[in-house]
Amino acid sequence: MAAADATGCTASPRIGPTVLDALVVGAGQAGLAAGYHLKRAGLSFEILEARGEPGGSWPGYYNSLKLFSPARYSSLPGMPFPGSPDHYPARDEVVGYLRGYAEAFGLPVLGCKRVLRAERDAGRGVMDLSSATFDDAVGAKAAAEKAFHALR
Ligand SMILES: Cc1cc2nc3c(=O)[nH]c(=O)nc-3n(C[C@H](O)[C@H](O)[C@H](O)COP(=O)(O)OP(=O)(O)OC[C@H]3O[C@@H](n4cnc5c(N)ncnc54)[C@H](O)[C@@H]3O)c2cc1C
Repeated sequence: MAAADATGCTASPRIGPTVLDALVVGAGQAGLAAGYHLKRAGLSFEILEARGEPGGSWPGYYNSLKLFSPARYSSLPGMPFPGSPDHYPARDEVVGYLRGYAEAFGLPVLGCKRVLRAERDAGRGVMDLSSATFDDAVGAKAAAEKAFHALR
């Protein structure tokens, strides 16, 4: 069985090839907000996240860390940050909010998918991405090459 890496992820099977309107790298606040708008626009997309779950950089911070903005200014589009609008959310609240956000809007987050390379094919406007963690599976990294082709 493959060993887990620093993110708690193990080798995963090949994904794709898939034709999508857009690919988002990272399921932090930026990637999730982008996903919200892509979904509202009716576009096909995936959000590739290196960690096992959405939550951005916050799961890796120390547990007493708080946002420097109160909750009233910390909402992503479409979902108010819960609790008193004047409180300063703690790390675990931020992580919980981001994970709940992804779930509430059914955002297609693919965990344990670290993007290694992005390229643009000028002729066709194609972007190829390699997605891992594949490096401990024989030949899997090569199999993952050009796993995704995002058009437009
Ligand atoms: C103490 C502190 C307080 C803060 N307070 C506030 C605040 O009050 N209000 C505010 O707006 N901001 C605040 N910030 C800043 C805010 O947390 C960051 O700006 C925010 O995390 C940025 O979100 P992001 O989605 O751009 O990036 P991140 O949160 O860093 O998320 C990036 C995601 O992308 C993933 N990723 C990275 N590389 C790859 C790859 N190659 N392939 C796949 N996935 C990848 C990562 O695993 C991660 O999940 C604060 C930060 C700190 C440290």
